[in-house]
Amino acid sequence: MDPVSRRHMLAATATGALLTAGGPRALGADGPTSDPGPQNRALGAQNPSAFLPPPTDHGDMPTFKYPYNLEHTRHTDGGWARQVTVKDFPIARSIAGVDMRLIAGAVRELHWHLPAEWAYMTYGRARITAIDPQGRRFAADVAEGDLWFFPSGYPHSIQGLGPDGCEFLLAFDDGKFSEDSTLLITDWIAHTPMDVLTQSLGVGAELFAHAPKRELYIFPAPLPPELSRDLAHSAQDFVPEPFSYALHAQRPNFAGPGGTVRIVDSSNFKASSTIAAALVELNPGALRVLHWHPNADEWQYYLGGTGRMTVFAGESKARTADFSAGDVGYVERSSGHYIQNTGSDPLRFLEIFASDHYAEVTLADWMANTPPELVAAHLGIDPRLLETIVRPPTPVMPR
Ligand code: MN
Ligand code: MN
Repeated sequence: MDPVSRRHMLAATATGALLTAGGPRALGADGPTSDPGPQNRALGAQNPSAFLPPPTDHGDMPTFKYPYNLEHTRHTDGGWARQVTVKDFPIARSIAGVDMRLIAGAVRELHWHLPAEWAYMTYGRARITAIDPQGRRFAADVAEGDLWFFPSGYPHSIQGLGPDGCEFLLAFDDGKFSEDSTLLITDWIAHTPMDVLTQSLGVGAELFAHAPKRELYIFPAPLPPELSRDLAHSAQDFVPEPFSYALHAQRPNFAGPGGTVRIVDSSNFKASSTIAAALVELNPGALRVLHWHPNADEWQYYLGGTGRMTVFAGESKARTADFSAGDVGYVERSSGHYIQNTGSDPLRFLEIFASDHYAEVTLADWMANTPPELVAAHLGIDPRLLETIVRPPTPVMPR
């Protein structure tokens, strides 16, 4: 840096000019914002707000970002799975998440578990099956952008379809839940006395002659027949409310120049009794406006693009983090936050809540629907200025 621009930078620092911009601070070649020591530049480039947070950030807050790319992946002959739970991401107490890949034909074994399972298809196609406690059955084919929900304890399976199987995100309504601790049909059979198995099903021992001695978990299998044939194998009734839902086919709850929001909870996806969610798409520069959720913590999964989120936790505490595809974000119940698209592509993410319904309170709604003199007294302004707040308040604002 030449002496003139160096002097300029030092002067700017001295007058606090670096700290007044609303956006991120500039990385200095020298001076107080330089970083001459060792560093991981690739990681630093993905996390600019960690080293140079907005000057409004303050205080000590736990991390609320965890990338799936840091997780151990469990590989099998039919695909793989990796999970983010409280073990690695301690703030995320209400939801545990799994990212799973099944090649064509591969099966996530018939199983059940204590928490409910909500899923979003991120790639390809899958066949899912389940039954309810009345013995009523369910089977459906799902594709990218579709959801499913299996209530706590309901047995189910997932199978990759052609041409290239599938990948999907699972969200369980318990942050402690481990995908490795599900109850599997092969594991149960392997740990039940043969005379009990045969008596319980009214069959001969030959039915279990080739049963595996250990769990299969994820295993290769032939592609299933057409769905119509899979549905015709039994005369038993179907479940009254389907366990799958075409979220992308849903008309957005909000659509504007800044992007779209689709909300899905038990009011429109009836089976989803303990998980609510929103799929948000923000255009470049657009903002998911300042808000909080009064009913539940928010577990986020980033599907594409890049953005940043600041979480405000009271007591002057605020922290900003950057997110891109494959990252998990977390906001504790009632903490204020916004999400801003900082890239040149659309920013797409899921907000997931362990609740039967979606709820949020926005700063704009609050300020627009409180007596103006009262609000103006807080801000030291003319109450008429409050009439400039956008009405009706929207969940997304364009650049
Ligand atoms: Mn499951
Ligand atoms: Mn939110």
